[in-house]
Amino acid sequence: MGANLINTAYLLAAVLFILGLKGLTSPRTAVRGNFLGAMGMLLAAVATLADRQIVSYEAIALGIAIGAVIGLIWAVRVQMTAMPQLVAAFNGFGGGASALVAGAAVFMPGAISGVPEIQVHVSGVLSAFIGSATLSGSLIAWAKLQGVLRWQPRGLAMQAVISGSALAGIALGVCYVVDPTALWAFGGLCALAVVYGVLLTVSVGGADMPVIIALLNSCSGLAAAATGFVLGNNVLIISGSLVGASGFILTQIMCKAMNRSLWDVLRGDLGEAAAKGATTDVYTGRIKSTSPEEAALIFDTARIVTVVPGYGMAVAQAQHAVRDFANLVESRGGEVRYAIHPVAGRMPGHMNVLLAEADVPYDRLYDMDTINPLFAETDVAIVLGANDVVNPAARDEPGSPIYGMPILDVDKAQVVLMIKRSLSPGFAGIPNLLFTRDNTLMMFADAKKAMQDLSREIRDL
Ligand code: NDP
Repeated sequence: MGANLINTAYLLAAVLFILGLKGLTSPRTAVRGNFLGAMGMLLAAVATLADRQIVSYEAIALGIAIGAVIGLIWAVRVQMTAMPQLVAAFNGFGGGASALVAGAAVFMPGAISGVPEIQVHVSGVLSAFIGSATLSGSLIAWAKLQGVLRWQPRGLAMQAVISGSALAGIALGVCYVVDPTALWAFGGLCALAVVYGVLLTVSVGGADMPVIIALLNSCSGLAAAATGFVLGNNVLIISGSLVGASGFILTQIMCKAMNRSLWDVLRGDLGEAAAKGATTDVYTGRIKSTSPEEAALIFDTARIVTVVPGYGMAVAQAQHAVRDFANLVESRGGEVRYAIHPVAGRMPGHMNVLLAEADVPYDRLYDMDTINPLFAETDVAIVLGANDVVNPAARDEPGSPIYGMPILDVDKAQVVLMIKRSLSPGFAGIPNLLFTRDNTLMMFADAKKAMQDLSREIRDL
């Protein structure tokens, strides 16, 4: 394949990646964006393999077929609540692949033509370090999210070991660049990077894993970009940089929405704060509970109903029951809105994806800044398996571990109907005084069953 043709294919692939990312910024265009990104990746992979005549066309077709079948089975079978684990595995494999390619370039000198040697060595070291740490870190993230691993060592000694492994790895990288015949230094660097990835991730709390996954996603992009420099491959540099930048932006968005720094997340600080704050004494004698029969009466006159979904809706898989409930309220002349907090659930966009699965129209989904002023005109706010994202302590109590985290102002609605199974706290592990407010009614039940029972009672009115 001629150089012009391959560069044109790479340019087209890069344009497809950028259009794909643009599409992913809105739920309306996300499916098309995903498709464009996948097409860009296919084009880049086929052009590279055909250009270097690495494998025959038959082998490329076979590879595409096998990959497509595995991807399809995975995508169909994975539960929405298990999506972060899947993303973690993908990031890890991406990082591992980058490290392997960098290793091949280092152990087979001369295989890469047209790239200055110093570029191969420096970028090879970066790719191997970041890629190996991403692989091991992602596997730990997967194990924690899957509930297979619960170990969370913390403390100053742990911090010292983590920093020590990173510094020793960097020192070995410098040794290798200074003397490229010192392959032992390169091997040692990879081993230390694996240790660094394990230790860094294992010390983070399980529920903070989505933030770490976004960070590891960014790292897998950086490793790919570094490998692009090793190979002198422009499309790898572009795609790796796009992944690196977008993963980092996502990490920042998540940290900002929780009002925590990345450093706090990496230290696993929330666990300590939560342990201090977790108590249910504050609720004694101050809770008003209700039943579906009683709560149905409120909806007889309610005109504007806002549903605030949270992690509990995902656990209960209540999205279809919510949609049926909304249809019912709308058929009786009411209006149903959905208030989406940026970190509701356990990954960004978690609630959007679940509600889209239940065919909730996009124009009913309101982001936090748009819906907050509208709670004052809301007759009933149904908080469905959400907790931290509606906790007024984040707004009103400077001493609270979550103080400063932006929240949905549901307490401004006429009536708040909190649906959850008990008085247990949410991810942050702290009490929620919204439960005790005069306008709050607690309905203790599984989210799906509660919505089904509520719909049945409203129909019977
Ligand atoms: P929370 O984790 O605060 O609360 C979820 C609530 O759901 C629990 O209090 C639980 O109460 C209830 N619940 C669990 N299962 C069910 C069920 N089957 N039926 C009904 N209720 C149920 O969730 P939020 O969505 O409000 O907040 C998300 C939290 O996760 C925030 O603290 C955020 O910072 C954090 N986080 C979010 C990330 C993201 O990207 N989205 C990333 C990392 C962290 P009970 O047991 O009583 O039923």
